[in-house]
Amino acid sequence: MAVRTRFAPSPTGSLHVGGARTALYCLLHARHLRGEYVLRIEDTDQARSTAAAEVGILADLDWLGLMADEDPIRGGAYGPYRQSERLSTYNTFFDELIANGTAYEAWETREELGAMREAAVSEKRNFRYKRIEYTAEQIAQFKSEGREPIVRLSHPSHDITVNDAILGPITIIEEELEDIVIRKTDGFPTYHFAVVVDDHLMGITQVLRGQEHMMNSHKHVGIMEALGWPEPKFGHLPTINNATGGKMSKRDKAKQARAAARDWHTEQKFPKGDFTALAELAGVELAEVERFMKKKSDAIHTAEAIATALMVDLPMIEVMDFRKGGFLPEGLLNYLALLGWSPGNDLEIMTMDKMIELFELKDVGRTSARFDIKKLTWMNGEYMKSLPTTRLLDLMDQWLEVTDSWIGTLTREQRSQLLTLYRVRCATFMELHSSAEFFVKAPTSFDPKAVVKWIHKGGGHARLADIHEGLNAISDWTAEGLETGIAALAASLDVGMGKIAQPLRVCLTGTSVSPGIGETLSFFTKDEVLRRIEAAQIALAPEG
Ligand code: GLU
Repeated sequence: MAVRTRFAPSPTGSLHVGGARTALYCLLHARHLRGEYVLRIEDTDQARSTAAAEVGILADLDWLGLMADEDPIRGGAYGPYRQSERLSTYNTFFDELIANGTAYEAWETREELGAMREAAVSEKRNFRYKRIEYTAEQIAQFKSEGREPIVRLSHPSHDITVNDAILGPITIIEEELEDIVIRKTDGFPTYHFAVVVDDHLMGITQVLRGQEHMMNSHKHVGIMEALGWPEPKFGHLPTINNATGGKMSKRDKAKQARAAARDWHTEQKFPKGDFTALAELAGVELAEVERFMKKKSDAIHTAEAIATALMVDLPMIEVMDFRKGGFLPEGLLNYLALLGWSPGNDLEIMTMDKMIELFELKDVGRTSARFDIKKLTWMNGEYMKSLPTTRLLDLMDQWLEVTDSWIGTLTREQRSQLLTLYRVRCATFMELHSSAEFFVKAPTSFDPKAVVKWIHKGGGHARLADIHEGLNAISDWTAEGLETGIAALAASLDVGMGKIAQPLRVCLTGTSVSPGIGETLSFFTKDEVLRRIEAAQIALAPEG
């Protein structure tokens, strides 16, 4: 039987890097075994699912190059691939299970269930819902009160063992099993039920997902048993942790923004609990800011609005953060592949084809992996150096669609020139954005140390006039022509090249750092270079 894997995100927000890693492993496993990889949208949580989130997740996966063989847009033989479009299928199986007595309607209200849970806690035992039988009169009474039943599945009458390909066998004893909810009051299946029905009907042979779902698998095996279906294989992937050792979570953004807001609030000496100024500054409704500050909301858009207003950086957690941060899909994917998997032999930089060739579940670890942004940045830098320029230019276009940068004002030709100058020095497009803005913006401030060393000492300022004249006379305004011209100028002035190049860099960039002087100069028009020298002659004139 052909191997089929699936990535099954819930469209309740933007794609987390952990989700991207699951998608990647699903793809690698399927491709390695010449099978298929499916994408299914799990939108059974109607209150939290949005069409925009689905669009965003698909766009992130496309950007990463993790397109599935079958998905809601491309279709496939097992569709529909959106759970909200599969309700009639789930209903058939609810009916079957209710008819054969394995599933039943349960009538308790939320409050009653809460009380049962509290009673269990006070008796120091785990609450495990088991069937409560009601008389026909009681049920009639519930109906007359307007109660809507949910549907529960009777738990298996034996222990359940899940044989996980990564974690090994994990058993839950019968006592710990409960009658889980399979249909909600709104008629939608629960995640547990829909996932089992779909995995079966879509021919999924290998379920790969995060370790947080490990304890769900026993429930899923119980449902499969009730439906008489074979189990797929399971593999639960290690958790990804942040730098401080906690699970890398979207909530990290809320925590950081809240901490920054608290500091600012204290600094500004605002009355305790009065967040009016913060709400105004962030452009967010006061009620939401209050909820956020009281930890009743972790909304990412609130965290981001606060962070932007207070000019603090939030941790990068979602794929979109890395896209905006100017990372390359090749770099991010390669890094994510190694967060939990090791092909051995210290192999790190790998193409997708190589990863497909080498990927085996037996080499996926059990212990959590730490997300190391420095390592990712290094790896991304390797791809900045090695990818073909045309690919980098295309990726730069995609980056400019999600980010505002001065690089967007350049022509493709100029961007290509910029990449030639910076791809070895900058690990991300964002670094390029921060390091090279002088190309479009004349410096308004100058590094004082560079000014003292190259302009004020050793006759630098006086030499600017010679440099101006020398450059003006150069007719071959290309990188090589400029290098030659400057060497000739240095010789005629009887100084080393540095005494020309460094003062020039100060005039052009405000600092003494830039790529090769010929290459840097050739990026500008001659007029612009001469203008910047003239401006620096005035701005940097030694006093007295
Ligand atoms: N919709 C679930 C989630 O986003 C998928 C879990 C699974 O892969 O079974 O967490």
